[in-house]
Amino acid sequence: MTLEFESKSQNESFARTVVAAFATQLDPTIEELADIKTAVSEAVTNSIIHGYTDTIGTITMHCIIIGNELVVEVRDMGAGIENIEKAMEPLYTTRPELERSGMGFSFMEAFMDNLEVESEIGSGTLVRMSKKIGRSQRRNEYAQEAGQKA
Ligand code: ATP
Ligand code: MG
Repeated sequence: MTLEFESKSQNESFARTVVAAFATQLDPTIEELADIKTAVSEAVTNSIIHGYTDTIGTITMHCIIIGNELVVEVRDMGAGIENIEKAMEPLYTTRPELERSGMGFSFMEAFMDNLEVESEIGSGTLVRMSKKIGRSQRRNEYAQEAGQKA
């Protein structure tokens, strides 16, 4: 599933809702859905605020399901990140004047199983994150157990 939208703040809640709807097919728990929405919200907000600071650009969100894992990519063609390692440190922000806390990447890391960031100054940023959705996994395990017993 691919969604393209303009880097306007009102589209952040739209993107988050679309991911949640897409993830429904994995039968997530309420907690898992909340985690995914928070992580996506942080990535999209970053593209809006940092990627396209004084302009409106296109954000592309790509979601796929591999087995019981949801993979979400958020891509912008904005400013890019100079030092990815530093940017991912907790409390690091280049926009303290906007009262950013520098916790966006930390939240993405905490709420998802895996987080990868690719970025180049002037070309843009790609955030790829994935999460195994538990309920369907557990159901498969039950099914296997039941199969073994039978
Ligand atoms: P918070 O997310 O807590 O409001 P923040 O956005 O500054 O604050 P992070 O989300 O962790 O914190 O991002 C850290 C830094 O990485 C940002 O301050 C910014 O410099 C850079 N950054 C993150 N995403 C992008 C992006 N899409 N394009 C350009 N720079 C980015
Ligand atoms: Mg942020």
